[in-house]
Amino acid sequence: MSKFKRIKGTQDIYGEDIKYWDFIEKTMKKVFLKYGFKEIRTPIFESTDLFNRGVGEGTDIVQKEMYTFEDKGGRSITLRPEGTASVVRAYIENSMINFGSPMKLFYNGPMFRYEKPQAGRLRQFYQIGAEVFGTEYPLSDAEVICMINDAFKELGLNNYTIRLNSIGKKESREEYKNILKNYYSDKFDDLCEDCKIRYENNILRLLDCKIDTNYAKNAPSILESLNHEDKMHFDSVKKHLETMDVPFIVDDKIVRGLDYYTQTVFEFIHEGLGAQSTLAAGGRYDNLVSEIGGNSTPAIGFAMGIERLVMALKSENIIIDDCEDIDVYIVNSGESAEFEAVRIARELRDKGIKTFMNISKRGFSSQMKHANKLNASFAVIIGEDEIDKNIVTFKDMESGEQIQVERGWFVNLILEKLANK
Ligand code: ATP
Ligand code: MG
Repeated sequence: MSKFKRIKGTQDIYGEDIKYWDFIEKTMKKVFLKYGFKEIRTPIFESTDLFNRGVGEGTDIVQKEMYTFEDKGGRSITLRPEGTASVVRAYIENSMINFGSPMKLFYNGPMFRYEKPQAGRLRQFYQIGAEVFGTEYPLSDAEVICMINDAFKELGLNNYTIRLNSIGKKESREEYKNILKNYYSDKFDDLCEDCKIRYENNILRLLDCKIDTNYAKNAPSILESLNHEDKMHFDSVKKHLETMDVPFIVDDKIVRGLDYYTQTVFEFIHEGLGAQSTLAAGGRYDNLVSEIGGNSTPAIGFAMGIERLVMALKSENIIIDDCEDIDVYIVNSGESAEFEAVRIARELRDKGIKTFMNISKRGFSSQMKHANKLNASFAVIIGEDEIDKNIVTFKDMESGEQIQVERGWFVNLILEKLANK
């Protein structure tokens, strides 16, 4: 037994799961590039103030979930709980406006939140996300949603819906907040403890509560409070999505957990995941860049959780057939066989063949067992006898068929066999 254990809420990712992770990361990158996005990598820790300001003082993230500590220089540091604030900081700090506007960026990496761990909810989790800076045009909202939909299709997912809402700009939202306050005023005593605080600080968040769901269901709709400008924007996003053939459901109870959203908000929800069903979520945030100190720059973005995507793929029985198994295992024993094995491994790897050469001192049968465990397609056996005759013994691990082949010819044989597999 190991003397040490993983920290609560973290996981080791290995084995079959790596295939899912790799597939998701590669697919997302391919789709982002198709839409003209460029990658950005930011540090995993930042000044605590960036998140206080960027994510919002009234959010659960800042109130309860941040990993904050003081470094040896006395600075208050926080492990990033989400990607957007860092990307916005980097966009401003590196004057990316000079690279042309609108600017499209994507990222992929670990995020940290001190949450109650459960399936699909971890303390270190991974998000892939993207941001578009420099346009408030509704076509950009629709394009981002269409891109996520493309990606989900490419991943093979079917069992999800897109929920769309608009929470308007400040003006509409202020009006709605008053209506909501009225609606909840006679229900206050019944609210959960968190919601009692939210009632004062951040009334919109009451719609997001996982406990008082009935009240939220019957609450007045924010869409009724949208002013003309917000309505036009929302209508235009919907029209573009229709033209793009992206199916969506308007859900006026979607408000999102972060403070920075304006107008469009959306979630991609999976039907097979139970409580942690939001795979991807995002929206427009036209004020964040200026709040973090940049010039006023409208923007829209989203993030999706890789762990939940893996769960969704599995729940839809999607098998990743990208085979990472070993092609050839080189079994060898004895000094001259070892040198020959090294030369053969070089030849095979130069041809792009996935090769595992025996690198420990042990007998033939234990090496064959290892080849089986690694699920190698073929074994190449080299002993004194093979070297004397200038041959190799070649074994098809699946059929068990074993033949002796001329040394000079066998690489071609392997290439041929792999091509026909
Ligand atoms: P939720 O309501 O599920 O807590 P959220 O509003 O906190 O989500 P965002 O901050 O918008 O979510 O994050 C976007 C996505 O990142 C989520 O939809 C989810 O897929 C993923 N995600 C967020 N928090 C976690 C976590 N603790 N563990 C795993 N994935 C997460
Ligand atoms: Mg959350």
